[in-house]
Amino acid sequence: MKKQFYFLLCLIFICSCTQNKPTDVIVLKNATIYNGKGDVIKNGIIIIQGGTIVEIGDKTVNIPKSVEIIDITGKFVTPGLIDSHIHFAQTGFFDARPNVVDLRDYFDFDELQNDLKNNPQSYYDAYLRSGVMGVYDVGGFLWSITRQKEAENNYKAPHVAASGPLLSGVDETRLDYFNTSDAKQMVYLSSPEMGRETVKQYSKLGSTGIKIWGVMLKDSSFMKSLQAVADETHNQNNKLIVHATSLDQAKEALRLGAKILVHSVDDKEVDEEFIQLALKNDIIYLPTITVTRGYLEAFKSFKEKRDFDDANNALDVRAKTFLETSTDYLDKLPKDFNLEERISLLKNLCLRTEPIMMLNLKKVHESGIRVAVATDAGNPGTFHGISIYDEMEIMQKAGIEPKDIIIMATQNGAIAMERANDFGTLEKGKFANLIILEEDPAIDITNFRSITHVMRSGVINPIHNE
Ligand SMILES: [Zn+2]
Repeated sequence: MKKQFYFLLCLIFICSCTQNKPTDVIVLKNATIYNGKGDVIKNGIIIIQGGTIVEIGDKTVNIPKSVEIIDITGKFVTPGLIDSHIHFAQTGFFDARPNVVDLRDYFDFDELQNDLKNNPQSYYDAYLRSGVMGVYDVGGFLWSITRQKEAENNYKAPHVAASGPLLSGVDETRLDYFNTSDAKQMVYLSSPEMGRETVKQYSKLGSTGIKIWGVMLKDSSFMKSLQAVADETHNQNNKLIVHATSLDQAKEALRLGAKILVHSVDDKEVDEEFIQLALKNDIIYLPTITVTRGYLEAFKSFKEKRDFDDANNALDVRAKTFLETSTDYLDKLPKDFNLEERISLLKNLCLRTEPIMMLNLKKVHESGIRVAVATDAGNPGTFHGISIYDEMEIMQKAGIEPKDIIIMATQNGAIAMERANDFGTLEKGKFANLIILEEDPAIDITNFRSITHVMRSGVINPIHNE
């Protein structure tokens, strides 16, 4: 009874401060704090002022007088999560991926992209409600680069890093599916000169990374252009980020100086050469294990509505609509699209690649290569925000300890975004970006679903309206 009363009291304290201004001083007291660097602080105290952590430590920290104190005894605090691989130009359904299922008769692609460009708030909300306070858009239209600045001072948005358009050697007619009548998110890498100019342009605009989509090892002219892109990326003090899912492609990407591999190696077990190259480049490895299964779920949802756990009401409006209406498109699928065959292919792909990806994650982690949590959100079936839980959970199934996944989902994501000086860990001088959890995430990573409050730059908000 007494415990219950105390719990209620805590809730009242928290509710009373949900409209705080970023300039207020707030003290969070008595929680178990995971600081994102691997340290645990029991009965921890965090003092926040002006959106920044001004003090953090155990019970010996001096609490100033006449400030708002929030007692969160029994709760757990971690830095805000970071998803290191997302796409703001994709929705979680096929409307944004006509190259996979062409539904352009029902969804105007230009209109959709215009909407995604001009109305980002529903995805921002989805991220914050999921506890995600940093996202790395590794492939989109040029506007994704300007979004970095736009989102920075918006307390209702995650911090954004973005690479801008993807460079690819894939046949241009296939790339056109991704592009609108007046803008490209997929750019054909046509020559070394063109590659160099593009790298210069994106770097000047402030792109965080230069993204390559596919490494065509047998296409010698593409590989020559890719070498030029790699060289210019280095000259511009930018970094090469590469989609390369086979071991051979991934190794070649590393030889070219890649700093981020945006997916797992999924065809073979990584070998010693891969590990040495990755360590030498000091890369960040993004597993994105669940995105393939997301496609499978999205295909299946044409036949039967997908049952989806959204306990924290974090899904964006568009995702909710697709979950409700996906079966309406069954009779609208293109004539040459064989749904049963695609489902069967995807099932086999998951069965074949998931065990390799899980094994490689463990091997990569144990060899000391830095790993960051990443979902590839926006791809069909992988929704913005909430998908981070599934990804962390499969990483745990792969044998990664929850305490290490916490670091991968916070500090390492900030390193990927090149923002480690600002957030990703709970330290004096950093943004007060944190989440409060009911259950201990270091015991079981599924406990990240027990999120009760999020704080972005010192502004605290409840997930549930108590
Ligand atoms: Zn992606």
